Amino acid sequence: MLMPMEPRIVPRKEHRISRKHVSPNALRTLYRLHSRGFIAYLVGGCVRDLLLGRTPKDFDIGTNATPGQIKRLFHNCRLVGRRFRLAHLRFQDEIVEVSTFRRSADPSDAVEPDDTNQGRRHVRHMKDANGMVLADNIFGTPEEDALRRDFTINALAYNIADASVVDYCAGLADLKDRLIRSIGDPRVRFTEDPVRMLRAVRFAASHGFDIEATTWESIRELSSTISRASPSRLYEEMQKLFLLGFACPTFVLLEKSGLFASLFPELAGWTRERDDRLKELERNLAGIDELVRRGQGASVALLLTALFGPRLEEAALARHREGIPRRQALDETCAGFLKEISQSAHIPGRVGARLNAILALKASLCRMPPRRPGTLAGRPEFADTLMFLEITAGTDGGHHTALEWWKAFLLENPPSESAEAPADEAPRKKRRRRRRKPRRRRGGVQEEGTADGQ
Ligand code: ATP
Ligand code: MG
Repeated sequence: MLMPMEPRIVPRKEHRISRKHVSPNALRTLYRLHSRGFIAYLVGGCVRDLLLGRTPKDFDIGTNATPGQIKRLFHNCRLVGRRFRLAHLRFQDEIVEVSTFRRSADPSDAVEPDDTNQGRRHVRHMKDANGMVLADNIFGTPEEDALRRDFTINALAYNIADASVVDYCAGLADLKDRLIRSIGDPRVRFTEDPVRMLRAVRFAASHGFDIEATTWESIRELSSTISRASPSRLYEEMQKLFLLGFACPTFVLLEKSGLFASLFPELAGWTRERDDRLKELERNLAGIDELVRRGQGASVALLLTALFGPRLEEAALARHREGIPRRQALDETCAGFLKEISQSAHIPGRVGARLNAILALKASLCRMPPRRPGTLAGRPEFADTLMFLEITAGTDGGHHTALEWWKAFLLENPPSESAEAPADEAPRKKRRRRRRKPRRRRGGVQEEGTADGQ
């Protein structure tokens, strides 16, 4: 375990964090905790971003109040999390996360489920045979809370009591030098949680930082262990890696570190077969970044198509040449791919189906002139498919002609408002029909059972 050291306290005059840039909800929460005698810090990524002059995605608060005490203080509080209980304070347009300071465990904390109790003992901290952390819920001091975090720049805190910045592990120096550095021995930290390697690459790409030498060497050494992370966590992390506007630089780093080959071995093998394939994928991902920059955003299905589509189209064409009908060849190729990728990332069925549909529709959109364009344009996957055509138009002259044709068609036939949501959006809640006012019978007696069947 890392030993806490004296923190560096930087007073208000010497740093750039102003309360003006903190969300009013987070500020009110900090003040309330502080006024009840608790320690209240802004922690994690928001402090890093405020110091860099960026707008934080969200504001996280660390405190020595326990989850129960937080719940009693805030009526809008919901306790969440099984591995570690933390509080979500729900405001109209924001959720502020408040968590009790915790520490990473040392071996004496290990409590294994035991036979006598059929595993009913409370598991406070457990690692598997490889050293990966399975459960972790021990309260700690603010220092310990900082030291259990992943990188030095993510371990800074802002103390509401005196508006100072508290730096327990030289994160300010790394922020100045633009370095991603593991807290403690990177080999141990990446073994505890291999997803940290992806986070290092993500922060380096999105912030334009370098990864410090020992941290980088450890990632290269341990890249193959990324397959130990759970497929659902990898699916979540994949979206953060590729859908926040930095997919291309992230991909380059994933490739250099060996993480790409471990995450997607088949796709990596395919890129090694021909020199231009890696560049083609980079261009496609740069296209995804461009959509994000323009504010259009990209769906997960479109991202997967940009990343895996070229290989799938090629494989489907090869099957077709062996005599299998075109559509069947594509569907079988996509089904095989979804099975293969489920080993690494848990892709929801509807997203996989949308990827297949985009590739199928692309073939129809590229047939010039297309048959029944109005019907094709009404397909739920049409918008994604057109964006895929746009992304790949630079690499294929045929696509370019098709793209121009469809743009002209859309100018004359603007899409209807009722276009379906992308496959990866959570299905919208069914709108509840307003209950009709009960009709009155002529004689003044209410009718039993309305048109709603109630
Ligand atoms: P972003 O701006 O992308 O949200 P972030 O740094 O806020 O970046 P989060 O995933 O929101 O990232 O996590 C909040 C904080 O929790 C991090 O800054 C880091 O201190 C800590 N943290 C998150 N994931 C891990 C992890 N796997 N291991 C250790 N600490 C972590
Ligand atoms: Mg965050």
